[in-house]
Amino acid sequence: MTEATANPTRLREIVLGGPRGFCAGVDRAIDIVELALEVCPHPVYVRKEIVHNRHVVEALRAKGAHFVDELTEVPDDATVIFSAHGISPAVRDEAQRRGLRVIDATCPLVTKVHLEAIRYAREGYSIILVGHADHDEVVGTMGEAPDRMFLIAHPEDVDRLAVPDPDKVAYLTQTTLSVDDTRDCIEALRRRFPKIVGPSRDDICYATQNRQAAVKTVAGEVDVLLVIGAANSSNANRLVEVSRVRGTPSYLIADKNDIRAEWLANAARVGVTAGASTPEFLVSDVVEELRRRHGARVREVRVVEEDVRFGLPRELEDIARRAGKAIPARSGLPAFKEE
Ligand code: SF4
Repeated sequence: MTEATANPTRLREIVLGGPRGFCAGVDRAIDIVELALEVCPHPVYVRKEIVHNRHVVEALRAKGAHFVDELTEVPDDATVIFSAHGISPAVRDEAQRRGLRVIDATCPLVTKVHLEAIRYAREGYSIILVGHADHDEVVGTMGEAPDRMFLIAHPEDVDRLAVPDPDKVAYLTQTTLSVDDTRDCIEALRRRFPKIVGPSRDDICYATQNRQAAVKTVAGEVDVLLVIGAANSSNANRLVEVSRVRGTPSYLIADKNDIRAEWLANAARVGVTAGASTPEFLVSDVVEELRRRHGARVREVRVVEEDVRFGLPRELEDIARRAGKAIPARSGLPAFKEE
């Protein structure tokens, strides 16, 4: 939004969605990199974006982390951290073969899906994974049983599936999907494969579900919804879709600089929320920018409180203890101060 387009509109209220922003898996992944930078010999490498947010990656790079796309860029005997999205066994094996010191920041809820894939593969199932091709998490999960896994993204994909035994089929889901779209996929799978097995509902994580639930509430109260997140963030993109499905225009923005005045031209209320890898300071920036431009008041709608925390990987805790460093306490999402 430029000064030239900053004429006050009738915008009266900013409605903040909650929960929003960092989840327990992202908090943990960032803590892992920060602690590794303190206690491990440098350089410390991180394979892929630790979480899908440029601001997070840049902040960690400024503290000394070296981000690489592949293990070939990591020298032998160095320390490498695997991202929150998880990795395939092939990557883990390669790191072991190379003698790299590995610290795994895979979110425990992604690991849970990997373990389910391993179990179903051992039991001889064909595994249908509902997810988005090329997302880091899906690449990692598919790698657990590449010759047994089939990827679908939409209910229409179900009819095209050709599995060896339709009576021996299991399903899993990516953790950051749309709750509603995934339900449609699972219903289509159940119709095609009546004996299909899987998690009781899906593998969509608590953070994804809670942020979508907040968007459903906020979208019903605003004229437009701004979702702060990266273009490659699955869960942030799903928040935009959830709002649009409810008829509320929604836009994904990386930060306050992406706000376009025309989106707000006829809006009395604007919703603001953030994907699970978006730092809270970006939310504060957007809110302050909107208030500065329009003088709107702020109200928060929080549909559920979150208190999920994950422990650090044992390998890192051991290194930290040997180095005499305290294990950091998990940080939670600070509530935005209402007026
Ligand atoms: S969005 Fe869910 S699965 Fe992904 S890191 Fe956060 S808690 Fe873990």
